[in-house]
Amino acid sequence: MAARTEALESILVEKGYVEPAALDAIVETYEHDVGPRNGAKVVARSWSDPAYRKRLLSDATSAIAELGFTGRAGEHMVALENTPRLHHLVVCTLCSCYPWTVLGLPPTWYKSPAYRSRAVIDPRGVLADFGVTLPDATRIAVQDSTSEVRYLVVPMRPEGTDGWTEDRLAALVTRDSMIGTGLAMSP
Ligand code: FE
Repeated sequence: MAARTEALESILVEKGYVEPAALDAIVETYEHDVGPRNGAKVVARSWSDPAYRKRLLSDATSAIAELGFTGRAGEHMVALENTPRLHHLVVCTLCSCYPWTVLGLPPTWYKSPAYRSRAVIDPRGVLADFGVTLPDATRIAVQDSTSEVRYLVVPMRPEGTDGWTEDRLAALVTRDSMIGTGLAMSP
């Protein structure tokens, strides 16, 4: 399918029907504007509002829809909260299933065979590649996404953010922290 898509894209570009830059712009939009910012709002709300956090952890699809984020690849969402004891890392070992409504389109590495296999075999090694070192006492749970269920990781709230507004908090929530390959930024 990937080869077919690439072949189709190259023909369309060759014939002048699509601009590669336009395709890149669409991907960029999903990666930087539409996607992860939505998820960051969800995370910031759950950090700020205990009742919302409870709803998010018990029925993520509805809780995310409360903020207006619904659509394809977001129909069956599960939110997983990271704690000092348990760190969730999301992968789709089969292909590239990803929660588009909250994170946009998946990054290239998420779709790579290397990530998909190593995330399962050596999650700590994968995290190290991303610059994340967790204490030995923290258990890592690798979550295998499917086309049926997609995960949003709720990273730990950084220290030193007491009393922050949701907007300020959301700015600390990176895309990778919601996949589990990163942590929320420190203020
Ligand atoms: Fe998949």
